[in-house]
Amino acid sequence: MQQAPSAVKVKAIDCLHFINGEFVPSVDGKVFNNINPATEEVLGIVAEGGSADVDLAVQAAKKALQGPWKKMTASERTAIVRRIGDLILERKDELAYLESLDTGKPLWLSSSTDIPRSAYNFHFFSEYIRTLSNEASQTDDVALNYSIRRPLGVVGLINPWNLPLLLLTWKLAPALAAGNTVVMKPAELTPMTATVLAEICRDAGVPDGVVNLVHGFGPNSAGAALVEHPDVNGITFTGETTTGMAIMASASTTLKRLSYELGGKNPNIIFADSDLDEVIETTLKSSFINQGEVCLCGSRIYVERSIYDQFLDKFVEKTKGLIVGDPFIQETKVGALISREHYERVTSYIELAKEEGGHILLGGKRPEGFEKGYYLEPTIIVGLDNGCRVVREEIFGPVVTVIPFDSEEEVIEQANDTHYGLSATIWTNDLRRAHRVAGQIEAGIVWVNTWFLRDLRTPFGGMKQSGIGREGGVHSFEFYTELTNVCIKL
Ligand code: NDP
Repeated sequence: MQQAPSAVKVKAIDCLHFINGEFVPSVDGKVFNNINPATEEVLGIVAEGGSADVDLAVQAAKKALQGPWKKMTASERTAIVRRIGDLILERKDELAYLESLDTGKPLWLSSSTDIPRSAYNFHFFSEYIRTLSNEASQTDDVALNYSIRRPLGVVGLINPWNLPLLLLTWKLAPALAAGNTVVMKPAELTPMTATVLAEICRDAGVPDGVVNLVHGFGPNSAGAALVEHPDVNGITFTGETTTGMAIMASASTTLKRLSYELGGKNPNIIFADSDLDEVIETTLKSSFINQGEVCLCGSRIYVERSIYDQFLDKFVEKTKGLIVGDPFIQETKVGALISREHYERVTSYIELAKEEGGHILLGGKRPEGFEKGYYLEPTIIVGLDNGCRVVREEIFGPVVTVIPFDSEEEVIEQANDTHYGLSATIWTNDLRRAHRVAGQIEAGIVWVNTWFLRDLRTPFGGMKQSGIGREGGVHSFEFYTELTNVCIKL
């Protein structure tokens, strides 16, 4: 297959930090290149922040906590939060192009999901916070207790590269709605939409210093400096489990509040009584959408043995129809992986699968006709068991394993046999089984006969090594606020 010419209509941007309401270079002038994963060309340059830049941003955020932001009423503040969502929608085409340039994901996906859902985060949280009330309780006729909520303070938002704007706004919207000030540190691989977002915040009327952005790397760089900074009151982090461990160690010296959304290796459990066509249609998405680079992807597929062969025939046939290629072509279903380093990591698992005795039923290689870009065919692996590293470790690419099972008890045990616990999907038309299995799966989110269906009021997060705490609805505000109990003697 030859790669067709791309239809990019928006130019990439160079990315500066945004500190105290202004776009600024790094204190030491350092920059790094931003690479297009679909072409391996340089898209532009990015300011490389370090501890001096983070310190400026944190000081601006700390000062802004006492400025006009603090004096605003909740309705004034939430009107600004809502306006950010409106401006994202006004600039949705530009943002979608930039997101696809940075990540290599298909443009239709950025346009249909990443950007509208980013806007919705602001619309949702600006309204939701106004529905919350605090607790009050009376101790006989002795005392009256009530609680008041205040902003947590300066919050550090550290984000990954797979859903850059969507995940950043998932944190920024409730943080602002609750009256905090923030320093954002996007992944160094995807700096562009965060930079536009900073501009949008300014245009929406966010006062100087309330939203700050520092680009840079993680370890020994901007990310680590933000975690270590004594004036940062909390860190909300989405990323790999091992990074979460490093952050927890360094945040312990200043005892920061932490919220963690980490890695996953999620089971997709398919019982024989399910509707197979519906299963296949959704399993294509839960396996390969966004190149499989979604923490919620169901990369461990368990299929009841009586339909195992039938499932595989249909699944392989449908997967063959997924077009891999240029993110800017409408027909493309699977774009480019994020970076050379990640491409090599993902393909190393395909080699490992062979060493572990697995059979690559489909894919496993670079599609023909692509000399440049980090493209990989959707890959289906069979013949492995739960003890194999390929089944146990997060690959975070378009790679799934399929394993047969014989009983409900067996599949529950296999699904839970992991140190991850982010999400799971169960396919069955037996209502009692759905409830029974959902109640036994160790995961923060269990979907029944669907995947990725989200209501932002519901708790989102992982069990075990997939996370600490929950965000979404009231849970977000539990993280982004401090609670004080006032006790009055009657
Ligand atoms: P990483 O953990 O590598 O990076 C996440 C962010 O942390 C980046 O901004 C990174 O900076 C920064 N960082 C890295 N090291 C440190 C450090 N020592 N101190 C402070 N910051 C640091 O994750 P990826 O970007 O590779 O994202 C993929 C991972 O994210 C997968 O494991 C995936 O499952 C998980 N994820 C989880 C989600 C969830 O909701 N549970 C949702 C989406 C993804 P830089 O990249 O610049 O080095």
